[in-house]
Amino acid sequence: MQAILDRIAKTIGASTERGQVATYIPDLAQVDPNQFGIAVCLANGQEYFAGDARTPFSIQSVSKVFAVALALGKVGDGLWRYVGREPSGLAFDSIMLLERERGIPRNPFINAGAIVTTDTYLAGSTPAEALGGLLRFVRDAAEDNDIHINDAVARGEMDTADRNFALAHYMKSHGNLSQDAQHTMGTYCHQCAIDMSCLQLARAGRFLMGGAAGPRLVTPERARRIQALMMTCGHYDGSGDFAFRVGLPGKSGVGGGILVINPGVASIAVWSPGLNAYGNSKLGTEAMEALAQELDWSVFS
Ligand code: GLN
Repeated sequence: MQAILDRIAKTIGASTERGQVATYIPDLAQVDPNQFGIAVCLANGQEYFAGDARTPFSIQSVSKVFAVALALGKVGDGLWRYVGREPSGLAFDSIMLLERERGIPRNPFINAGAIVTTDTYLAGSTPAEALGGLLRFVRDAAEDNDIHINDAVARGEMDTADRNFALAHYMKSHGNLSQDAQHTMGTYCHQCAIDMSCLQLARAGRFLMGGAAGPRLVTPERARRIQALMMTCGHYDGSGDFAFRVGLPGKSGVGGGILVINPGVASIAVWSPGLNAYGNSKLGTEAMEALAQELDWSVFS
């Protein structure tokens, strides 16, 4: 495994065809695109990593995996009254289907759905308390207290969040947001601004993997369902392409990170800041494709 990761970091990780870093969030535009990390936690507890696997990056939409686990823990299947479970086939920040579907977003992994998910775990507490609960979940999952929210990223995102505010207000006009939109959006932007390294993220993903490694934070049934959402919706309108090329459930973020689960076998995190046309890590996807092919990993085997 170590030799494979080293080879992937040296070949794919060093490619100059890296895609474009996200520029619509000010701090993300400053990230050095020439970074690449990969980390694998196996179900038997063994860990392997290569490249910049210990460098923290903005996990952005990968946080939606932890947020949905938290919201489901709070309200159970009641969550599905406010957000669907279907892929959208549209960009992560699209507003199009919201009008047709009366303010109910397609799934919790596009921005609109994630804003509803945040609104759900925020209800009944202050943004600081809600974010404290989310951080506790992520830290427990990773068994690592050195995981923090990057305030500069959060503030920059809040200042440029016109489109996300539009989604929030539109859903609120349909009665599908229970909290003050400013509070929900502030919480959402801070949630997206969690910094983690590949190693921390791969460890945090173990709660979905099953097997002996890592803490059990959700029931096996809930873990299976979250992974089903990752497979069908985790890469927005690129979800079909990721399933075709990698064959494993994954969740991406515009910071260039991807969390991938091979059920019962491994939790994998990969990071390269440059994005493809869908807003998913270009080299991260290529690295996962290579790793899955090399190890014959696929849920379709
Ligand atoms: N914070 C980002 C946003 O709301 C997350 C998007 C993403 O990672 N795809 O736009």
